[in-house]
Amino acid sequence: MTRIDLHSHSSVSDGTDTPADVIGHAVAAGLDVLALTDHDTVGGIGEAAEHLPPGFTLVPGMELSCAYAGSSVHLVSYLFDPEHPVLAAELRRIRSDRASRAEEMVALLREHGVDVSMERVLRIAGAGRDEYADANTIGRPHLARAIVEAGAARDVQDAFDRWIGSGGPAHVARYALDPVRAVELVRTAGGVCSLAHPARAEGALTGSVPVELAERMAAAGLGGIEADHPSHNRAQTKEWRGVAADLGVVVTGSSDDHGTLTGRRLGCRTTAPEAFERLVAPATGASPISG
Ligand code: AMP
Ligand code: MN
Ligand code: MN
Ligand code: MN
Repeated sequence: MTRIDLHSHSSVSDGTDTPADVIGHAVAAGLDVLALTDHDTVGGIGEAAEHLPPGFTLVPGMELSCAYAGSSVHLVSYLFDPEHPVLAAELRRIRSDRASRAEEMVALLREHGVDVSMERVLRIAGAGRDEYADANTIGRPHLARAIVEAGAARDVQDAFDRWIGSGGPAHVARYALDPVRAVELVRTAGGVCSLAHPARAEGALTGSVPVELAERMAAAGLGGIEADHPSHNRAQTKEWRGVAADLGVVVTGSSDDHGTLTGRRLGCRTTAPEAFERLVAPATGASPISG
């Protein structure tokens, strides 16, 4: 049986393994198909594509940052044309805003006596100051690692809880797309998408994406819902499988692996081959890459 994992991160965003190493771990985990879905960038796809063993398939993708009613909603997107001008411009804007927001968060942390610097955050992120818009995606996990290094938190989780989680003293919101517009944009660029970890929309009052929003996203061309995600409990998985069935979209399952940040877990959740085929059938912006 083909084993398919449709959500993973490399060091091009907030994962800890290089794109080449992510592929190596995916092969070791017994996967046949992996989507590399770094936050708001396809910057790791080229390197990953160079390291595919025969018979292994890479699905080019990204996890797109969206926001709705004060909470963050994520869209895992696949097989779009990364050079579509509107999409490419939005991605540059998101990445650039992520960098300035990191600077604001560093300033807040320093006001609270936490000895972090933007240079250190950029080094952890593998990014350079003058490359903001085209470089690696800078995210809170990089800040969290700098906070731990500065001795102001025990570990990454503690850094989120104390400082940079939603509502924390050094948290700053960032630019993100409206989720319905994001679905339309990905579809316009020839891609397809699935609503990522819908029960874990950070910052939401309930922690869940409102079903009425999922309905509107489905009407705009959403192809799947990531009901099978390691952060979902049994009841949440069941609930969102039901929503997917009601909306006539496929259920996707994925690990959302971030290397050692999450603990290596590629393949801990998978997508059924029929669901994958149905999800990607309308895609015209790019093709899966086989080794
Ligand atoms: P950002 O996109 O910069 O706002 O950072 C969000 C990322 O931080 C998510 O994609 C997760 O990888 C990570 N994250 C969010 N909340 C937590 C948390 N409580 N503990 C650890 N990592 C988290
Ligand atoms: Mn992440
Ligand atoms: Mn996410
Ligand atoms: Mn993710």
